[in-house]
Amino acid sequence: MTQPEQSKPVDFIRQIISEDLKSGKHSQPVTRFPPEPNGFLHIGHAKSICLNFGIAQENNSSCHLRFDDTNPSKEEEAYVASIQKDVRWLGFDWGKNLFFASDYFDQLFDFAVQLITLGKAYVCELSADEIRSYRGTLTEPGQDSPWRERPVAENLDLFQRMKAGEFADGSHVLRAKIDMASPNLNMRDPVIYRIMRAHHHRTGDRWCIYPMYDYTHCLSDAIEGITHSLCTLEFENHRPLYDWVLETLATPCHPQQIEFARLNLTYTVMSKRKLLQLVQEGHVSGWDDPRMLTVSGLRRRGYTPASIRNFCEVIGLGKKESWIDMTVLENAIREDLNESAPRVLGVLKPLKVIIDNYPGGQVEELIAQNHPQQPEQGSRTLPFSRELYIEQDDFMEDPPKKFFRLGPGREVRLRYGYYIKCESVLKDEHSGEIREIHCTYDPETRGGSSPDGRKVKGTIHWVSAAHSLTCQVRLYDRLFLTEHPDTDKERNFKEFLNPDSLTQLNQCKLEPSLADAKAEEAFQFERNGYFSVDPIDSRPGAPVFNRTVTLRDSWAKINK
Ligand code: ATP
Ligand code: MG
Repeated sequence: MTQPEQSKPVDFIRQIISEDLKSGKHSQPVTRFPPEPNGFLHIGHAKSICLNFGIAQENNSSCHLRFDDTNPSKEEEAYVASIQKDVRWLGFDWGKNLFFASDYFDQLFDFAVQLITLGKAYVCELSADEIRSYRGTLTEPGQDSPWRERPVAENLDLFQRMKAGEFADGSHVLRAKIDMASPNLNMRDPVIYRIMRAHHHRTGDRWCIYPMYDYTHCLSDAIEGITHSLCTLEFENHRPLYDWVLETLATPCHPQQIEFARLNLTYTVMSKRKLLQLVQEGHVSGWDDPRMLTVSGLRRRGYTPASIRNFCEVIGLGKKESWIDMTVLENAIREDLNESAPRVLGVLKPLKVIIDNYPGGQVEELIAQNHPQQPEQGSRTLPFSRELYIEQDDFMEDPPKKFFRLGPGREVRLRYGYYIKCESVLKDEHSGEIREIHCTYDPETRGGSSPDGRKVKGTIHWVSAAHSLTCQVRLYDRLFLTEHPDTDKERNFKEFLNPDSLTQLNQCKLEPSLADAKAEEAFQFERNGYFSVDPIDSRPGAPVFNRTVTLRDSWAKINK
C-alpha cells in the first residue's frame, strides 16, 4: 500500500496543511472525524474518513474519532459500535484518540457561563416559533428578542435553573448575543443550549439541557487541539459562528475550519434520515442490506476496504458541488476483484445436460486455472461426469446465426473440458418447457481443442450435476431507478425505488470447491460476475452468495 512520495494525492486541503507545516504554524496536523451516532456510516462518510485519517497517516500524526453526541433523542449506542467497526474495517486507527462530545458537557457548560459573564449570551423565553419569526429573512434583518438585554446576574441565575430542571422543555433557551442584523442568519443570536428531557446514551439522565451542534463542535475541536477542522460545504455559512465562539472565549487553540464538496453519488440517497426510513419501512433488510450504500452494506455486498479507499482517491477533493456516477464506484471494485478474485464455475439458472456417449458412473478430474492471468494462483480440479448443468441462457432451440453457444446440432467447448454437440431436446409434455438436453462429447477434445483442427466459436461454463453444490445466489440491481432520486421537489424519493433491485436464485449449481468458502470471500464466477459469501445468511458447507458487481458495466451497454 505504500506509494512513492510524488504520487500522493495533492488537493487544496493538503496544500494548506503543507504550507502550515512549512511556515511553522503547526508542527503536526491533527484532524478528526466527527460522526453523529444517529445512523450507520455511508460512502459519503468514507470520503471524509479517508481524507481525515489519510492526512494523519501521511504525516504520522493523529486523527481523532469523535462522536458528536449532542442530540440524545436520535442517538444510540448501537450506532457508536457500528461506526467504530466500519472505520476500522476501512483500514484506519484512531489509537487512543476516541472522544465523545458528551464527555465535554461540564466544560461546555462552564464556557457558556463565561459567555454569559462576558455579556455574550442570554436566556431567552421566546418560543421556537417566535424565535423563528424574530430571526428575519435573507433580505430583512431580524428583531431583537425582548430578553436580549437581561442583566448578567439574571442570566446566570436562569441558566443554572435551566440546568437544575426548574423549567419545562422548550420554555427557555440560551442564545449567543451576536447580531440580529447580520447578513448571515447563523449569526442572529443562535440558540446554544436547549432544555430537553431525554435519556442520553452516555450521560443518562444527568442533564436536561443539551448544547447545540455549532456551539459544541468548535469547542470540542479546540479542547482536543485539532489543527484543521475539515467539513462539508454546507458548513461554510457556519464558519463565522465557529470563529466567533472561539474568539469570544479566547480559547488557546483555534482550529481552522476548511470546507470541501461532499460526495454526491447517482442512483442513491445519502442522507441518514432517508436511509433510516428505508430501514424502518422495510424497503431493505437493514442498514447492511447489500443494496445500501452504507459502509456495512458495501462490505456485505463484497466491496473491499481497498476498493473504497481507491474510489475516494479517484474522485478527488474539490470546492464545488458535483455528482459522481455510480459506475465510478462499481469500476473501483471491479478492478480490485479482477486482480485478486479466484475464478470458479457456477451456473445461476441451471439446465440439465446428459452426455449420452459418456460412461455412467465414470468421473474424471479436469484441471482448471484459479486465475488465468496469474498462474501463481495455481489450479484446482473439477469433477466431470455424464450429467452436467449449463446455463439456460447458453442454449437456444432456434438460435440466430450470431449465437455461438449451444443449439440443436451445434457444438461448443466446455470450459476446461471437452467439445459437446447437442443431439436432442427433451421437453415437458404439458408445459412445453425444456427439461434436459442430450449431447455427445468428443473424447479427443479433452483440454479444449480438437486434434483434427476443428474449431468451435463458443466456450461455456458448466458443473457436474452429481458433484455440484446447490446454493442461494442474490443478484442486485440499483436501489433507485433514477440518477437523482432525492432532488425532485414534487416527488418523494421512495417513488423511485427499483422494484427489481433484488433477484434471489435458490437453485444455483456451483462447483464443489465452493462448499468451503468463508464469509466475505470473493470469487469471480466465470462469465457471471464477482460474488462474495454473505457473512450473515451462510452456514458451514452452505454458503449464500451476493453478486458484488457484474463483469462489465452492463448499464453502459443498455444506455448506448
Ligand atoms: P447526513 O446528512 O447523512 O445525516 P451528516 O453530515 O449529518 O450526514 P455526520 O455524522 O454529522 O452526518 O457526518 C460526519 C462527518 O462526515 C461530517 O464531517 C460530515 O461533513 C461528513 N460527511 C457526511 N456526509 C458526507 C458526504 N456525502 N461527503 C463527504 N463527507 C460527508
Ligand atoms: Mg452532520
